Amino acid sequence: MKLALFEDNLFGVITHDGLWDVTEILPQYQTGYAANFWVCMCRDFEELRPKIQALVKRGDGLPLEKVRLRSPVLNPTKVIAAASNYGSHVDEMRDRGAPSSWLLDFDVFLKSPSSIIGPGETIHLPDVQGEIHHESELAVVIGKAGKNISEAEAMGHVLGYTIAIDVTLRGKGDRSRRKSYDGFTPVGPWLVTADEIPDPHALSVKLWVNGQLRQDANTGDMLVKIPGIIAFASSVMTLNPGDLISTGSPPGVGEIHPGDHMAAEISGIGRLEIPVAGKPIPRD
Ligand code: MN
Repeated sequence: MKLALFEDNLFGVITHDGLWDVTEILPQYQTGYAANFWVCMCRDFEELRPKIQALVKRGDGLPLEKVRLRSPVLNPTKVIAAASNYGSHVDEMRDRGAPSSWLLDFDVFLKSPSSIIGPGETIHLPDVQGEIHHESELAVVIGKAGKNISEAEAMGHVLGYTIAIDVTLRGKGDRSRRKSYDGFTPVGPWLVTADEIPDPHALSVKLWVNGQLRQDANTGDMLVKIPGIIAFASSVMTLNPGDLISTGSPPGVGEIHPGDHMAAEISGIGRLEIPVAGKPIPRD
């Protein structure tokens, strides 16, 4: 099932016939900053699935081009991301002179949830020194909470998958700060539930900038696979429903500039398009 948030964070399901508004099945639905209905939906999805299916009838879904999709991750307690998880990306960063201590070992780090933007939103690059890069990544959305999850049980905690672009300011200093500017985590276009992705380690990941292919890889090349990432991350912190785990960038990272257009595609999921602009004009 393809789950989406749209307009003012209404809850929708996407089928071949369009988008279906199924917000009414969520008793906790509320809008605004403190909305936690999405977290509850992530936790309760299997119970909700038959109710959603009953609402999705053929014939008159909303045409996708007429709705504004939002990020399919709302107020997660955290955004976890894997570092150095594709061998050839580690090699290209070593060639750029990155400190080897950062590259030799797999690790996870945090990105600010406030850096998330959704499909069709624009990333406004901050006015800072240094190169700002795209990293296209398969991202996991957690359904069932857990701590110290074993690799054998890890996939049972996955609600589904989406696309994330882990936008990164290169340079010295803390990785979490360099990856947490507003807009630095585009996510979307929707969440594909795990039953539709039987093997998340056999997906093609591509990213274009202005139509030029920059990243072209397969998730089978991850050094630490999803069960290993979940086991490691959950040995540190409790994973909560709705949390996002980005699985690391394949090679081909490169600079983005105002005026560029990014498009990331993962087979079995979809395509996420994000325009790049300069510093936003300050509001009054
Ligand atoms: Mn990354």
